[in-house]
Amino acid sequence: MVTRRQKKTLTRILLTAVLLAALWFVPAEGWLKLCLYLVPYLLIGYDILRKAALGIVHGQVFDENFLMAIATVGAFVLAWIDGSGDYLEAVAVMLFYQIGEWFQSYAVGKSRRSITQLMDIRPDYANIETDGRLERVDPDEVAVGTVITVQPGEKVPIDGVVVEGASSLNTAALTGESVPREVAVGDTVISGCVNMTGLLKLETTRAFGESTVSKILDLVENASSRKSRSEDFISRFARVYTPAVCAAALALAVAPPLALTLLGRSARWPVWLYRALAFLVTSCPCALVISIPLSFFAGLGGASREGVLVKGSNFLEALSQVRQVVFDKTGTLTMGVFQVSGVHHSDLPQEKLMEYVALAESASSHPISKSIQRAYGLEPDRTRVTDVRELSGNGVIATVDGRQIAAGNEALMEKLGVPASPCHSVGTIIHVAVDGAYAGHIVVSDVVRPQARDALRQLKAAGVARTVMLTGDNDPAAQAVAADLGVDQVYSRLLPQDKVERVEALLSDQPKGQRLAFVGDGVNDAPVLSRADVGIAMGAMGSDAAIEAADVVLMDDDLMKLPKAIRLAKRCMAIVWQNIVFAIGVKVLCLLLVAVGAANMWLAIFADVGVMVLAVLNAMRCLKTPE
Ligand code: ADP
Ligand code: MG
Repeated sequence: MVTRRQKKTLTRILLTAVLLAALWFVPAEGWLKLCLYLVPYLLIGYDILRKAALGIVHGQVFDENFLMAIATVGAFVLAWIDGSGDYLEAVAVMLFYQIGEWFQSYAVGKSRRSITQLMDIRPDYANIETDGRLERVDPDEVAVGTVITVQPGEKVPIDGVVVEGASSLNTAALTGESVPREVAVGDTVISGCVNMTGLLKLETTRAFGESTVSKILDLVENASSRKSRSEDFISRFARVYTPAVCAAALALAVAPPLALTLLGRSARWPVWLYRALAFLVTSCPCALVISIPLSFFAGLGGASREGVLVKGSNFLEALSQVRQVVFDKTGTLTMGVFQVSGVHHSDLPQEKLMEYVALAESASSHPISKSIQRAYGLEPDRTRVTDVRELSGNGVIATVDGRQIAAGNEALMEKLGVPASPCHSVGTIIHVAVDGAYAGHIVVSDVVRPQARDALRQLKAAGVARTVMLTGDNDPAAQAVAADLGVDQVYSRLLPQDKVERVEALLSDQPKGQRLAFVGDGVNDAPVLSRADVGIAMGAMGSDAAIEAADVVLMDDDLMKLPKAIRLAKRCMAIVWQNIVFAIGVKVLCLLLVAVGAANMWLAIFADVGVMVLAVLNAMRCLKTPE
């Protein structure tokens, strides 16, 4: 796809080329020739000249427009003064420059589109059924709890729960996952998926602005505004560079002929002036200025196509330097879907214990709580529960039917001064105290994510030196998971603030230039997510806190995407450096050749556009994920 502006520039390029070819055969001399050549020159260069003039007016003198303007105007003046009438060069320089610009805007547009393919997930309307008729409304106006209808082929506009119908959903735009997801009554559906087969009625659970789709779009839109250090380097570089080359060009125009004159030799002022102008044309740092941000942009696009949202180029850069990866256990390395595998040492009837715990946990959003609710099987009667307190990393305390129920780990029992009886099953143990007396425990066990082991191995292959697991769970459960997965180090029984301290300790031992990534599910580890060099969140599908605190989001909780993202980031950085070295190298070479008179303006602009085209093509490789 080509935009209207690009079409216009293309027409100007072609017209100029045709005009130049025609002028070749026109035997004009003097003023007439100058005027004839000014026509294609102004046609192809008027916008550059205008921008250069505006730049001067606004005090931002030294940019590439200025370089092109002064060099080409200078070339005209020179050809007039020395009587050669060779205006072709000035026009051609402008022409090549515009060809380069056109190519660049085409390439940028292309990579931007591949990011904004994601923008396709933006829903335009929601259907509300009234009196048997569907009405299209602005999704922003739909109140939470409204029932909306999503027909086959339509996008889900707002997060909700299926209340009627069954269908398969295409989540590819969100997660990069091509296998459709089946949903039926009771399932949660996130916005941005496409409904493929059946008619669905959803009861919305969030407002549009709070829905997954809006959050993701916000992230994507803001991603390219966070600059990496390489990009910062380039813009700082450009700020010093342009004035420096202008000064060098001035010196080149004045110093050698002046010296020659003083030495009493013939100075040939126009020759040195020409070299200075050619030097200016050559110095244009387009290839760098364009290809570096483009590489990052393409890298972000490539990652998002894989279902990995990277919130800025700085994080892509950081990802490429990750040597330590710290994982949270529950919900990250494990599924966070617990099965109740036993109720032990209970003085109360087992059902009664389950009921108390389920009620006490009814307000918690911890995965353990959700699993207990499932095992309990009934809708908890919340009127029986008061004074709920959740102790992050420990458990909950609540009053149920007037009795104080505490449910949580050993540490919670210690805090309450209740002696907990040990349990020999491996798993997460939820000890329960009723009115300050020990009342037994429930054993729940989690399963590790199927891809976790492979992902850890691939991380090592991708250059990660150390993997660490942090958990608030008891030591046997932690050791079991760690041994199963092959994690290098384990720390158990940690409260959320202990996790921050652990990560800080790891960070302070870290050699310069290396980075630490923390991968968590956002359930009480948001502080660690923001403390790590790169916070990576699982469960973009669920936890809002995670999306907000993280720098990178694995959209579909697939741990395999992590080594993939690191490989992609590394390759992107390699490409960035290739371009920097290549562009600066060729530039320095051309500048030297021009300064000694071994290359003319033609060659200079040709080299410049050529390098830029190659650098841009190289940058576009960042879009593809390495295998
Ligand atoms: P992890 O560090 O593995 O992600 P958490 O920090 O979320 O685990 O929780 C640590 C431990 O605290 C859990 O293993 C559990 O024993 C206890 N715990 C936390 N929240 C709850 C809860 N809502 N109900 C019962 N136990 C809980
Ligand atoms: Mg957790």
